[in-house]
Amino acid sequence: MLLKLKKIYKEYRTEEILTTSLNNICVNIQAGEFVAICGPSGSGKSTLLNVMGLLDEPTKGSYEFDGKEVTTCSEREISYIRKLNVGFIFQDFNLLSDMSVEKNVELALLYHNVSKSMRKKRVDEILERMEISHRAKHKASQLSGGQQQRVAIARALVSKPKIIFADEPTGNLDSLRSAEVLNLLRELNSFGSTVIMVTHSEDQAKSCERIITMLDGKIISDSKKNTITPKN
Ligand code: ADP
Ligand code: ADP
Repeated sequence: MLLKLKKIYKEYRTEEILTTSLNNICVNIQAGEFVAICGPSGSGKSTLLNVMGLLDEPTKGSYEFDGKEVTTCSEREISYIRKLNVGFIFQDFNLLSDMSVEKNVELALLYHNVSKSMRKKRVDEILERMEISHRAKHKASQLSGGQQQRVAIARALVSKPKIIFADEPTGNLDSLRSAEVLNLLRELNSFGSTVIMVTHSEDQAKSCERIITMLDGKIISDSKKNTITPKN
């Protein structure tokens, strides 16, 4: 099993108020799956994605990432595991705004023991693929929202990560570009990458093999194509 979450809780305490963003989450993801996470705003989708993607630590519970219990790992170990295995596509891009487009994308390869010439080749290829080569030398801050999103996607994919986590990856794109991004994710999935995507779009969710639906920090249903297993 690639990801194994057992009784995962994430709680936030602000002054007197306790928010339980993840409430007893148990879920397994197999290598090669294409999973959509759905649910209303505030239901815990992003928190779940960030915990799965090793960006955020759960308050309690057990999480095995590719066979390794990560809840007892040091920050450094976690950061290393994440850099080697995981690509993120966020809605707010998280690009380094003063750095060029190509540099932003190349950074994702620095921990991967890829030679400089190979890095250049891979960066050029993925920028081409994302139709943003003509902006390679521009600073990220000089691009439009849709262009920045394509750069963020290029950065997430250039290292050919084992798992891609996407939080509303098409949120800022028009419908044509959204379809392209979805196709790209599908293609990567067909080559073996596991894809886990938070989406508001019912159509996008329906096109996925598996749909996990959240409400109030819980998984209320987890359905694979042709089989539905309601949870309480
Ligand atoms: P979704 O992605 O489904 O909109 P989130 O995972 O962003 O939901 O949030 C789930 C709940 O956790 C919300 O009630 C939100 O207010 C709360 N939450 C998320 N991040 C924090 C934080 N850093 N501090 C306090 N509460 C948070
Ligand atoms: P550190 O070196 O402090 O562990 P990182 O450099 O791994 O931190 O991550 C810093 C920030 O960059 C993260 O909070 C996240 O928002 C973003 N990030 C990390 N890894 C990736 C990735 N593979 N793809 C996209 N963004 C990432």
